[in-house]
Amino acid sequence: MTVAETRIFPINTGWLHGDLGTYIFWKGPAGKKKWQPVYCHFVDTGEHKILIDTGLPDQERASKYHHNCEKRGCLQVHEHLEQKLGLHPDQIDVIIFTHLHWDHVQNMKEFRNARYIAPKAELEMAYNPLPLYYRTYECGILGIEPAYAGCVFEAVDGESEVLPGITMFPTPGHSVGHMAVSVATSAGDIVVCGDAIFEERNLEPNPDEMWRYWVPARFVNSYEGWKSVEELDKRADYVLPCHDHAANARSDVFPYEGMPIRKRRQAIPGYQFYFGDMPASAAGKEAPAMAAEDVDAYISSLARPEDMED
Ligand SMILES: [Zn+2]
Repeated sequence: MTVAETRIFPINTGWLHGDLGTYIFWKGPAGKKKWQPVYCHFVDTGEHKILIDTGLPDQERASKYHHNCEKRGCLQVHEHLEQKLGLHPDQIDVIIFTHLHWDHVQNMKEFRNARYIAPKAELEMAYNPLPLYYRTYECGILGIEPAYAGCVFEAVDGESEVLPGITMFPTPGHSVGHMAVSVATSAGDIVVCGDAIFEERNLEPNPDEMWRYWVPARFVNSYEGWKSVEELDKRADYVLPCHDHAANARSDVFPYEGMPIRKRRQAIPGYQFYFGDMPASAAGKEAPAMAAEDVDAYISSLARPEDMED
């Protein structure tokens, strides 16, 4: 049986210095930076040993071609699996990619027995990127060999239960083909979000602009990106965004006793949803609306990006 046994282990592969205004929050404080972790996730269903994304390379490669990177004692994914979780890379049988940006795909060739599964539109973009995204996909034209050079993938197009209890669903916007991964567990659906959101805070309002969601700024398509944030809100009992330290560091393993379960698609008086109904698979799981008298206290409890620590 899988669902009762399924466990998710977050793996932090290092830290990047990202801008709050150009990456993490739309209309966030541009020029203010915050160190963000880069997580990938090991999922053990009892039947399958799965990685969702594979995270960062070593510090030198990351800093040379991309953003300022610090490891701070974090290992690369294959080293972490061996040294912290006691698994040989050959034991991984599937790697699912949310998208193929450089900080989600490194070291995949270390896993010699793994099938590689990725969204079809990501594969098309990664192998022939729009020039704006040469660096993001480590295009060979820049003299970089991408981590997936020569690898054979299985392409997924549209929502798909790729393994029992493991469902990829489209969340484009951050990148053209981005897909999140919903993992059915004994505590509910834990959604590994990739970069569809960077932090849990992206699912809460921006009160200055009356936005129901303070969505990320890093979108190739803001319309699809907003829709994808709503989709996560509709489907997730817990979110594991790849760049959120708080959400991933609450435990070494998920689910865990006392894990805070989200209220799915909770209406907040004064703040509008834009896209419609719950997906068929989540029908009936919408939370009751927040009471009007609770809104002020809730809004004032929310973290403000300009106050976030670097
Ligand atoms: Zn990304």
